[in-house]
Amino acid sequence: MSPFWSPAIRSLTPYVPGEQPVERLIKLNTNENPYPPAPGVGQALRDYATDHLRLYPDPSSRALRQTLADTFDVALEQTFVGNGSDEVLAFAFQAFFCHDAPLDAPAITYSFYPVYAKLYGVELRQHPLDERWEVDLEAMSVDTPRSGVIFANPNAPTGHAHPLEAIEALLQRVTDRVVLVDEAYVDFGADSAVALTKRYPNLLVTGTFSKSRSLAGLRLGYAIGSAELIEGLQRVKDSFNSFPVDSLASLLGIAALKDQAHFEACRNSVIATRERTRQRLEALGFEVLPSQANFVLAQHPEFEGAQLFAGLRERGILVRHFNTDTLANFLRITIGTDDEMDSLLEALESICR
Ligand SMILES: *Cc1c(COP(=O)(O)O)cnc(C)c1O
Repeated sequence: MSPFWSPAIRSLTPYVPGEQPVERLIKLNTNENPYPPAPGVGQALRDYATDHLRLYPDPSSRALRQTLADTFDVALEQTFVGNGSDEVLAFAFQAFFCHDAPLDAPAITYSFYPVYAKLYGVELRQHPLDERWEVDLEAMSVDTPRSGVIFANPNAPTGHAHPLEAIEALLQRVTDRVVLVDEAYVDFGADSAVALTKRYPNLLVTGTFSKSRSLAGLRLGYAIGSAELIEGLQRVKDSFNSFPVDSLASLLGIAALKDQAHFEACRNSVIATRERTRQRLEALGFEVLPSQANFVLAQHPEFEGAQLFAGLRERGILVRHFNTDTLANFLRITIGTDDEMDSLLEALESICR
């Protein structure tokens, strides 16, 4: 605890991302995509004129945002991009949730939300998941006053996604503050709420290029919402860093968005592998929560989560284990290639035998 730190910094609990190992492990712990980015991304990188790096990028990222607008069938003014969706989420907390009232969020969800809440001094009102491990949208829309509502759909690390009707019903109940739907995993089988942004001016949808576009290393995320919400995000961005998205990231992001066929082929493979993996885990006695994401959350009635995690690690396979009361018995397993999942299942078979 350094005396040089500001008081608020002393009490923070920073987010701890899943490990990025230096050894060669089968890496199923941070929900990266097992397939490479679209071929056009490599081509754009090879064609890039290095001299261009002398210049600052476009502060408004107009070309990337226009491609995003075309992809999602929204207006340019409805789009925002940032250095990973984590940054976009941080801007959203500052732009919309700093009111003198608690923020409604699920008790089990993306663990960065409590970190941002602490950073920005936002009180959280956390709602337990229901008996099926689903986000309780009813409960999140009851108490007032509130500073807003935030949840991931599909939720992390459970994988369940609500249908659009349920999200629209929530939007009809919550009109006074921003409702933020984090769609980091939406492309793996859930319905996107983007179309609802045209009718609900308080709906902000965030997304990322890290998972379904195979670009976690590039750091690109986005938000889609009404022009007034986007302007709020821009005000925060332009008070913090005018250039969060660099020239290369813009160019490569555009190349990724333009290859719809590659995108669909990769996500269909992940979905098919997820279903095979689920069946085989169940055959080994695991309880697997239904998932519309690129991971599954699973527990075994006879083995502790920590024990399975350690056994897999010994066999060169890295999954995610959360050391919290509610999740300690579970493993969150990212869906990799079929070969990677075969190795996982063989390892689990030998541990459980
Ligand atoms: C991975 C993830 C993000 C962050 O994505 P980046 O764009 O890589 O910062 C945001 N929300 C959820 C729920 C995620 O799982």
